Amino acid sequence: MSTVGDHIDLAEPHMRENLAMAGLDVEYIRATGNTMYFLDENGQEVPVIDYAGGYGALILGHNNPEITAHAVALLNAQIPILAQFSRHTAAIGTAAKLNEIIQRELGDDEPYYAVFANTGAEAIEAALKHAELNRAAKVSALTGEISAAVEAARAAVAAGEASLPAGFQQFDDLAQHVAQHNAELLVRPPLFLALEGSFHGKLVSSVQLTHNEEFRTPFAALAAQAVFVPFNQPGALTKIIEQGRASLLGLVVDGGAVQIVERDFPVFGAFLVEPIQGEGGINEVSAEFAAEIRQACEAIGCPIVVDEIQSGMGRTGAFLASSLIGLRGDYYTLAKSLGGGLAKVSVLLVRESCYRKEFELIHSSTFAKDGFSSAVALRVLDLLEADDGRVYRLVEERGGRLKAMLQSLAAEFPDVVKDVRGKGLMLGLELHDQSDSQAALLRDFARAHILGYVISGYLLRRHRVRTFPTASAANTLRFAPSVELTDGEIAQLESGLRGLCSILRDQDEQALFA
Ligand code: PMP
Repeated sequence: MSTVGDHIDLAEPHMRENLAMAGLDVEYIRATGNTMYFLDENGQEVPVIDYAGGYGALILGHNNPEITAHAVALLNAQIPILAQFSRHTAAIGTAAKLNEIIQRELGDDEPYYAVFANTGAEAIEAALKHAELNRAAKVSALTGEISAAVEAARAAVAAGEASLPAGFQQFDDLAQHVAQHNAELLVRPPLFLALEGSFHGKLVSSVQLTHNEEFRTPFAALAAQAVFVPFNQPGALTKIIEQGRASLLGLVVDGGAVQIVERDFPVFGAFLVEPIQGEGGINEVSAEFAAEIRQACEAIGCPIVVDEIQSGMGRTGAFLASSLIGLRGDYYTLAKSLGGGLAKVSVLLVRESCYRKEFELIHSSTFAKDGFSSAVALRVLDLLEADDGRVYRLVEERGGRLKAMLQSLAAEFPDVVKDVRGKGLMLGLELHDQSDSQAALLRDFARAHILGYVISGYLLRRHRVRTFPTASAANTLRFAPSVELTDGEIAQLESGLRGLCSILRDQDEQALFA
């Protein structure tokens, strides 16, 4: 058992041991903008440039002064933070502002209703539940129609107006055949569609839509399953939908004969898509693939949940990354930067045409829609939109500068850097795999999928730069700084990465672990 000061560490101590092993066990005592500080042995603050950016939750930086001042004013004004079952003006304002922004980006005026939650995974779970309500309503309408048609056929046969299909002597046998087929299908849980490499959270249902097997499979028995669609692969989705198709049986009376007919069963609950995968290694959905997703989902009436938890809130130079590839969602999830780095808040947006008002009563959370985080979220949206979208333009410009630096390193070290990906300030640098390295430590750590964290430790200790690999792509370092990124901060990262690339090129493992 590890200890911290006088205390035995009972707060996930094994995680801390791993951090210590990688040289990441640092206590930060202050943070502002893109800089975090820890204390050295002499009690002096040591600045670290933060490219991890709260896993993408800090588009406006650590302790943004305007957001902090607003939060302090809210607390000083003693606003009611928990006032369930009352009128929530800040949440109403946030929902209105979100609609204004999204309608502008989508060029469409259909409203989206907002369901508030606390974390990203929770917003995803709300989306799954909401989509399931709609699917269940469709199933119920279908079974109602089928029952009515069976009774109509029964009456027609009894009146001698219609004959039975071949193979059936009694109407009851036919009705039994239909009922049995349908009963087997009706107990099937929905299937959700998600992309290979996806990350949609780690709660009971959302983790089943997260592709990483290590996170997902231990809990597979707990929730509905996903079918994972190959990323950006034309034709793959149509094939999966075709293979998954199932039909309920119904009856019709046509020309004096009862016929068995097939009715499409809504097998798929929803398609979840991150326009740019974050944890999967910064992978961008192409505009062509987005169009294919929309078309395929529309054809079977399957709603699309666009997960903008990491890519949204201006991170890619637009409020919604999906707007840049023309992907229109029936649902959107937002979290992370929505809370301005201070509040824990997420939101599920549901297009009016699929919204179910009963959801508001059957889904809730004590802390959702609270007065503090809703008011912070509203201020964050105002800041993003200020000066005619200065933040979006700056993200594009700063992101362009950062990406150009990463690309020049890739050109300089082609044997070390495999790829540079991403948009705006959501960028990834993929390193070549070291699993077959001649250097024993590099090889062993790579095979154990922890080399990325050891690299993070090196960048932190040697270069005072904080970045981590993405959760499900161990060779990809992620860069998600705030919009106030300076040229000096880019230069500091460049020198750190140049040091790293030289070490990997020379296979100088001693330098990495020194
Ligand atoms: N979806 C995406 C795209 C994410 O990046 C994340 C978090 N990395 C989540 C969902 C889950 O959010 P949270 O960690 O707040 O539950």
